[in-house]
Amino acid sequence: MESQRPVAIVTGGSRGIGAAIVRRLARAGYDLVVTYRSDETAAEQVAASVASTGSRVELVRADLATDLGIQAPFDVAAERFGRLDALVNNAGISTRYAPLADTPAAEVRRTIEVDFVAAVLGARLAVREFRRLGTGGVIVNITSGAATLGSPGEYTHYAAAKAGLDAFTMGLGKEVGPHGIRVVAVAPGLVDTDLHSTTGDAGRVERMAPGIPLQRAADPDEIAAAVEWLLGPDAGYVTATTLRVAGGR
Ligand code: NDP
Repeated sequence: MESQRPVAIVTGGSRGIGAAIVRRLARAGYDLVVTYRSDETAAEQVAASVASTGSRVELVRADLATDLGIQAPFDVAAERFGRLDALVNNAGISTRYAPLADTPAAEVRRTIEVDFVAAVLGARLAVREFRRLGTGGVIVNITSGAATLGSPGEYTHYAAAKAGLDAFTMGLGKEVGPHGIRVVAVAPGLVDTDLHSTTGDAGRVERMAPGIPLQRAADPDEIAAAVEWLLGPDAGYVTATTLRVAGGR
């Protein structure tokens, strides 16, 4: 049966920024398909935390580095909710801080697969579904302030993947605007999540905070607030652009 509520897919919704987006959208009245890669317990906790909102949440375990993983949430949205209004391409990984020459090729490839290719192919499926349903829709890509900083000595391949996603947002937004589909990006700066544990720099958030004009990392919910606004009618004339939410950095 078709859902009476708007339906959104949120990738990587089990932790960090994705989990904050799920909580926001559940409160805003969405039914949700939430993907995660491996942390089932975290995914179930996020679903349980929004149970009181009345939002229906379908959890989908899927590796977005695979074609099947990219397709899976769309199948679930069609089967369980019969509609799709939004895709939030949030899932992402980073690698250990290192100059490119010292970063294993497989890590470079996987980062670009998950942070760029999966988002592009997910958006492709979303556009097909929005057009099939004839409803229009919104795609929000989570990019990064790194896209314009380059992250030298840290992860230039990650920054480049995110810059590619910003360019893709601009191009696809122009391409599908005539179909009533908006495509936007949010570029967070430093956000206090588990992502930084993979950089090998345990104190990264505390170390970097003083260099940010607002003098602190963002709370994940501050990124989720921007996503919620971009998905909603108040942002109805916003497309093909990136909103930087980076504390001035
Ligand atoms: P977290 O590491 O906290 O969470 C990442 C999420 O993505 C988890 O739900 C994880 O699932 C999922 N995920 C990771 N790899 C895959 C995969 N191959 N397939 C499917 N799901 C996957 O990250 P953040 O919340 O910090 O980051 C969210 C987004 O924000 C990313 O795109 C990141 O690049 C971007 N960003 C983050 C910043 C920050 O400072 N934190 C700054 C700028 C941008 P599981 O839990 O199962 O592993």
